[in-house]
Amino acid sequence: MGLLVIISSPSGGGKDVVINTLLKHLPRSARLISTTTRPPRPDNKEGVDYFFITRDEFERRIAADEFLEYNIYANNYYGTPRAYLEKMLASYDIVLSQIEVNGKHNLDKLNIKNLSIFMLPDDINNLRKRIAKRGGITPEVMEHRLEIAQKEIAASVDYDYRIVNVEGKLPETIDKIEKIILKRLEETSILDN
Ligand code: 5GP
Repeated sequence: MGLLVIISSPSGGGKDVVINTLLKHLPRSARLISTTTRPPRPDNKEGVDYFFITRDEFERRIAADEFLEYNIYANNYYGTPRAYLEKMLASYDIVLSQIEVNGKHNLDKLNIKNLSIFMLPDDINNLRKRIAKRGGITPEVMEHRLEIAQKEIAASVDYDYRIVNVEGKLPETIDKIEKIILKRLEETSILDN
């Protein structure tokens, strides 16, 4: 049974790069790909970044109780399919998920064990710049995402770890996260099995 690691950050907080680097560094690790109704960004790939589906299909799957947890974020649905998470935890030692604070709290309520790490931005203006750089975002969406970011930061107090991701120091942030994951694996002695 693998370790579920939740890596959250506000939109534009750098969790994609962090997760992709960790996947290369950590043996027997995999990314938990979420399902969303958000339209793909220019560089997004189906089945790599997300499974992109329509709102109708997402609502059909909610009705069929296929999601372990789901959330509406900036007017789009995001969710973790139950069967998929079970399959991933059975197949890998480390399963990296990028769900946000509500998703994490819902998993806690369901008593799903996880290691949670929240990446805090060092400065809200840097966050704004990073969201803008990614493209495909209207001024309204930008303001909405920054508003959500403030709320997420406030709601992240009960994460196991909160790490400030200093602008220009991403490798250090990744290193810290990697050490936290390896320490938890050692404690749960998954590495020995
Ligand atoms: P983005 O549109 O920037 O890729 O993601 C928006 C937000 O949705 C991010 O904060 C991300 O953490 C969150 N998110 C991605 N997948 C899931 C999921 O499966 N469940 C929940 N609750 N949130 C998710």
